[in-house]
Amino acid sequence: MSSPKCDVVVVGAGPYGLAAAAALLDAGVFVRVFGAPMSFWQDHMPRGMFLRSPWAASHIGHPRSRFSLDEFERNQPSRLSRPVPLADFVAYGQWFRERAVPDIDQRQVIRIDPTDGGFRVHLADGDTIHCDRVVVAAGISSFASSPAEFAGLPAELASHSSDHADLGRFRGRRVAVVGGGQSALESAALLFENGAEVELIMRTPQLHWVGRAPRRGLVGRLLFDRTDVGPAFVSHVVARPTLVRRLPVRTQRYMTRRALVAGGALWLRPRISDVTVTTGRRITAATRVNGHLALALDDGAMREVDHALLATGYRPGVRKLAFIEPQLRDRVREHNGFPVLNRWLESSVPGLHFVGGLADHSYGPICRFVSGAAVASRQIAEYASRAPAA
Ligand SMILES: Cc1cc2nc3c(=O)[nH]c(=O)nc-3n(C[C@H](O)[C@H](O)[C@H](O)COP(=O)(O)OP(=O)(O)OC[C@H]3O[C@@H](n4cnc5c(N)ncnc54)[C@H](O)[C@@H]3O)c2cc1C
Repeated sequence: MSSPKCDVVVVGAGPYGLAAAAALLDAGVFVRVFGAPMSFWQDHMPRGMFLRSPWAASHIGHPRSRFSLDEFERNQPSRLSRPVPLADFVAYGQWFRERAVPDIDQRQVIRIDPTDGGFRVHLADGDTIHCDRVVVAAGISSFASSPAEFAGLPAELASHSSDHADLGRFRGRRVAVVGGGQSALESAALLFENGAEVELIMRTPQLHWVGRAPRRGLVGRLLFDRTDVGPAFVSHVVARPTLVRRLPVRTQRYMTRRALVAGGALWLRPRISDVTVTTGRRITAATRVNGHLALALDDGAMREVDHALLATGYRPGVRKLAFIEPQLRDRVREHNGFPVLNRWLESSVPGLHFVGGLADHSYGPICRFVSGAAVASRQIAEYASRAPAA
């Protein structure tokens, strides 16, 4: 039986998948999109969270498109808050997809095989579809990373921050939040506000706050690009990934390091003022003791808690994507687990593109944020609309 065919399959319907699909549709490409729209934001981020990225950096796709966050706000009964609440951003994503990409197919992609000059995409219910090109926009949820000290502990004692959409379940319990980035700081604030007894434990010697320098007016525009990834001035370079990739590798690495320093948005500061914070300490062991969790710190101190919430980030790796057939995956040239991509975000396998966090190595740190979706989707749409796949 022959299976249906399209030009491009987009795997994933988060901000990157949505932006790529919208740009491809605009360019007249026959595209099919698979995945549950905005599911990572809805199911793997805590209710009550706010976006760290400012308004101008939170448009899906181009900020002057018909489907910008501004346009969404104009269609709401009242002005939205700043910073943007998670619930509003999820609603914006749904609004975007209803208008820009109405035909999303929510089925999971379970395997992608190479064919002669294209790909065969297998869906969870057994259907298959042929295409010339695949855009992998599957996000970072499968790359959640936890310290080895917590391996083997049951989920009721230790869990990754991405396992929770409702931190209210920890009311009245003692929780150690591990990590020093936005997710750790905001989780600590939300846990505290939800009645948990919280201690934030991080390796960095002190808390780092982001957002002191002005973002508005002429000075703000001189210091920061609207995409707002990285510190003053660096932000303007990071916003141009097709330029960054032409810089010497050492300069690229420097930009990435500067852009991805862990820290929390300044507006979180008052919300954690009553939370116990332990800086400059590493957890060396985590063991179950009488149904609780005993944590050993590298200064010899111990803590007993009911739960450790590991806001310890993500380690993307193309080999962790179980839905890419192993032999096809082996053909993807990689560096430290990241696919090596050309300026069209195409890997060493012609027609196989990666966007979002996995594009970081070749396209710079902007790919880890929603604001990078505009340039990524423009590049892919421009390429796919004129270049037939190999
Ligand atoms: C707590 C937290 C807060 C964050 N806050 C911000 C912020 O304020 N601003 C910002 O810019 N970034 C923020 N980020 C980063 C943010 O996650 C990324 O910028 C964004 O989600 C990337 O979008 P994406 O489309 O690549 O991935 P995702 O949003 O993760 O979307 C992936 C999509 O792929 C689908 N999918 C996965 N596998 C399959 C499959 N096999 N078949 C079909 N579909 C599949 C999923 O269902 C989903 O629809 C935050 C991240 C975290 C963890």
